[in-house]
Formats: sequence, structure tokens, C-alpha cells
Amino acid sequence: IIDVQHLKKSFGKNEVLKDINLTVDKGEVVTIIGSSGSGKSTLLRCINLLEKPTDGKILYKEENVLEKGYSLPNYRTHLGMVFQQFNLFNNMNVLENCLSGQLTVLKRSKEEAREIAIKNLENVGMARYIDAKPSQLSGGQKQRVAIARALSMNPDVMLFDEPTSALDPEMVGEVLATMKNLAHTGLTMIVVTHEMAFAKEVSDRVIFMDKGVIAEEGTPEDIFVHPKEARTKEFLHRVL
Ligand code: ATP
Ligand code: MG
Repeated sequence: IIDVQHLKKSFGKNEVLKDINLTVDKGEVVTIIGSSGSGKSTLLRCINLLEKPTDGKILYKEENVLEKGYSLPNYRTHLGMVFQQFNLFNNMNVLENCLSGQLTVLKRSKEEAREIAIKNLENVGMARYIDAKPSQLSGGQKQRVAIARALSMNPDVMLFDEPTSALDPEMVGEVLATMKNLAHTGLTMIVVTHEMAFAKEVSDRVIFMDKGVIAEEGTPEDIFVHPKEARTKEFLHRVL
């Protein structure tokens, strides 16, 4: 569904992504692991065009979204993104957070949008909190609302950038459990994470990034049990 070809990204003279090639199939759960600064967030941000790649192609359903004339707003609505810092609208309650994109971008009717929002809030266990403001929620609850909000746009692909790393330890489990449920529904997911147990258990494929390249990729078993590259071994040794 997404095919990244020879993707490069530089900030000034600093080449942060060097010739990244990555294919994600429909329904696949791909996790991206690697040291701080290896380019994981930049890769996600390039995929959803929060950053403009310096070179390369991003094919979505076989069309290069970087081509002149490609409808970017249209592409973006097919991608859901969940950030480390939740990024909820603090002036809106939980339900309104899940309605706004549906109403403004997708032009859904209020009734339909509400139905979809509530269904997704139920899926993440947050339907009881529709009237709450984000400030009244715990970090884990906020993150589950952020997931429900993204899902309410019916994305084809969900991108997660360290969704649990800003959470207190006791909240991590509920968010990972929510993501695990989503993975089992057949949703296509690309997840940057430091949670190796999650990567091991839930991914179809694990990508290990090091200094702007994909140093190794494979099944969780390939990466965690039989890593080939010295730098993969070294990284795992450090984090496990
Ligand atoms: P972490 O695990 O800490 O989140 P990461 O793998 O997500 O790390 P990136 O955030 O993608 O790493 O950053 C990769 C490199 O790109 C870093 O050296 C960073 O300083 C640089 N970088 C990222 N964003 C920018 C930016 N907007 N301007 C300049 N340099 C940037
Ligand atoms: Mg990052």
C-alpha cells in the first residue's frame, strides 16, 4: 500500500535519511526500532509529508505522491498519525476532538460523524469520557482518544511515533493493549517504538534503523532471535 523508494532527507548538510527503501503491504504491522537520532521520526514524517523528502519516491497505491499535481490533501486523509505528545485539541472535549476532522475535512454529517466517533471511542475504551476535556484525562486516556480520533477518519494506514514514550509506566500497558487490538483487526500500521516486547509480539516485520539507513529488517524472530548485523546485535544488547 506504501512503497518508499530511494528516499533521502537532509537538513542542511546533515543527511538524515540515506536511500531508504521500504514496502508496507495492506494489513501489515511494521515496527521501526533503532537508536535515538537514527531517523525513525523523520522517516514517518516524510511518509506523511510533514517533512518534504529531498529525493526519492513515495508510492501510495502505485502512484508517486511526490509527483507534481498529486492531490496531497487527499493522500493525507488516508494516513492517520499518533504522536508521542497526543496533540489533542485542548479546548475541545473528547467527542469534539473525534468529530472535528470528520466534519471539516471529510464533510460528514454530524450524525454520521458522531456515530463513527463513538464507535471508535468504544473500541479504545473511552466512550464514557465523551464530555471530558483533555486536561481531565490521564496520559494513557489522552493517547487512546488520539488513537480514536485518528481512526475516525478511516485511514488506510496508521502511523505511530513512540505513542507510549511520554506516558507514565503504569499507562503504557493500556495503550499497547489498544494498539495490539488494532493490529488484530487487520489495520495497516507503521509503529516507531522503544517497546521491544510489543515489536516482538505484534509486528509482522521489524525494521532496524541505524544512522539514516535500514540496517536490517525481517520477522521478529529474524531480528530478535537471529540478528545478522553487528549493529543490530549491539543495539539489542543495549536495550534488552
Ligand atoms: P528518537 O528516538 O530520539 O526519536 P529518531 O530516530 O526519531 O530519534 P529523528 O528525530 O528522525 O531521529 O532525527 C534524526 C536526525 O535528524 C537527528 O540528528 C536530528 O537532529 C535531525 N533532525 C530531525 N528533525 C530535524 C529538523 N527539523 N531540523 C534539523 N535537523 C533535524
Ligand atoms: Mg523520534
